[in-house]
Amino acid sequence: MNRKRSGESNRNMSEGNIVIVIDPGHGGLGGGADDGASYNGITERYINTATAKAMCEELSKYDNVKVYLTRDNPNQAMTLKQRAEFASDMGADYLISIHYNASEEHLIYGSEVWIPSIGEYYAQGYGIGKAVLDEFQDMGLYLKGVKTRVGDGNDEYYGIIRESEKLNITGMIIEHCYIDNGRDYAYYGNDDAYVRFGKADATGVAKALGLKSTELGKDYTMYKGIDIAIPDSRVYQDETPPEVILKKCSSNGNGIVEIVIHAQDSESEISHYAYSFDGGNTYSELFEWHDRDGDNEESITIMNVRQNRADVVVRAYNNYNLYSTSEMVVLNGINGVFEEENISESVESTLTVDQQNNVISNEKVRYDNRRTAMVIVILLFIIILTLFFKSAIAASLKKWYHSIKDIILKNGKDEK
Ligand SMILES: [Zn+2]
Repeated sequence: MNRKRSGESNRNMSEGNIVIVIDPGHGGLGGGADDGASYNGITERYINTATAKAMCEELSKYDNVKVYLTRDNPNQAMTLKQRAEFASDMGADYLISIHYNASEEHLIYGSEVWIPSIGEYYAQGYGIGKAVLDEFQDMGLYLKGVKTRVGDGNDEYYGIIRESEKLNITGMIIEHCYIDNGRDYAYYGNDDAYVRFGKADATGVAKALGLKSTELGKDYTMYKGIDIAIPDSRVYQDETPPEVILKKCSSNGNGIVEIVIHAQDSESEISHYAYSFDGGNTYSELFEWHDRDGDNEESITIMNVRQNRADVVVRAYNNYNLYSTSEMVVLNGINGVFEEENISESVESTLTVDQQNNVISNEKVRYDNRRTAMVIVILLFIIILTLFFKSAIAASLKKWYHSIKDIILKNGKDEK
């Protein structure tokens, strides 16, 4: 197996310099403007630029490295291809695109890095991505991993990575945090936060590449980064949701609910979980999944539950934001009072939850069951009908036979 330290540069080693191009994601003004994510007055193209500038400034302080920005004006439009071409013109080994994230339902939080899915690009990207995320973790952010994403035509999904790869450059995307979620709020929303991220990016890259800065008095030449094997084939993303089981759900009758969630995913990691007390109509916020002992289980205690009865379901999300929903467990007497169960209502709730997940398979199973039941009912009906009319049919057949016989005999007599 080929192993290569992520810091070993493809080119430029002869000149003694590693070349890194930093790209503030999105940008432009007017008709073709691309703001990127936007939430509560924060717009990605501005903050990407602030972080990219800070990263460039910090990383430039290291020895034997040349750092460039694709542009420093958020109003300047640039295609992804132009950014990669600029990096190529600079002789770049790495093109690092700076981004902030947002999700449709504003539930997700945390940091992630997208890297190329093949060969040395993958190994190098992974080394840097991991080192950068380690810096973020030290800052207190929740990590959602170093990931690949392959799109149509079995090529890189993200344009900046795809265009870089065509030009023999390791392209990557740093998604610092979610600007639409309260959990990440401490890390965005002010100028200091964007600069802090830029410095963390620079430190992560410097560590992964084993750089040294006389100016900063930092030496990462002995830094032990992650040793990533060059993959033999393309590394694909996880496209299936995790498995989730509501393993235990109990209450002591004092308004406290204890839940054990079992969740696992063979292709990626579990990142979040949430619970519902109304059969899946509404959910809690997304909590961090900390399976420290590696048993794929998380025990949670929910205090001060006001309701007596809860239709409990849980959800587990993987690193790719794909989730599954557990079966429902009805918990009664949470506050010592037992409420009557309304079974038809509970079934309805479960179906609503299921529709969000594995819609096709669940619908199909339900449809198949209904069809089988209908066929059985029709068959039973035919059998009962046959049994009921059996004697009557036999009698009338007999009668009919005899009358025919009589006619024939009569005719025969006449002929004679
Ligand atoms: Zn973006």
